[in-house]
Amino acid sequence: MDNIVIFGAPGSGKGTYSAALVKEFGYNRISTGDVLRAEIKAGTKLGKIVKGYIDQGQLIPDEHMIDILAGVYDSMLDGPGVIFDGFPRTIVQAKALKDMLQERGEKITITINLNVSEDVLMERLLRRAKIEGRADDNEETIKKRFKVYYNQTYPLIEWFKNEGVLSEFTFKGDTNLIIKEIIEKVASL
Ligand code: AMP
Repeated sequence: MDNIVIFGAPGSGKGTYSAALVKEFGYNRISTGDVLRAEIKAGTKLGKIVKGYIDQGQLIPDEHMIDILAGVYDSMLDGPGVIFDGFPRTIVQAKALKDMLQERGEKITITINLNVSEDVLMERLLRRAKIEGRADDNEETIKKRFKVYYNQTYPLIEWFKNEGVLSEFTFKGDTNLIIKEIIEKVASL
């Protein structure tokens, strides 16, 4: 089974490229952001805990995330593979992912790192705010999320490199071109 991590800053297109891989290869996708937003919408206990963090652009504590992840992953074991969109976001989460996969005889197949310049990221997120109305897509919270990304998540690139699973893709103005490159890369695994 393929276990693909889609990695990048807020607004780097993780959702878009995940959707393209789901369409092409029939993978299941775990978007931790979507899972959390669904919990908030349903008014669950977890939803109440995580809302404040999301609205502030902060990460949800690792222990909550790791529990959520294993539960969702186990419901997807029948499929051809899983895309992790928005997880891991810290070194602790990355190690937990590695352990969780190992316990099931699996491993990270590849990490797709999306490199996009910061001005393009900001422009996309402000545009998305108008379309989707996400509470955390306003300029102030976006700036906080960038900071959180560079402090807590970006250092993971080195971790993925050491694991030998990192593959880099740089956005040069054409989303379809990157989709093609990513699909070719995944098809060659
Ligand atoms: P996303 O939809 O991936 O941009 O996630 C939106 C928000 O959900 C983030 O800003 C965090 O507050 C929270 N979140 C999503 N995934 C994680 C994660 N793996 N660890 C901690 N917080 C997360």
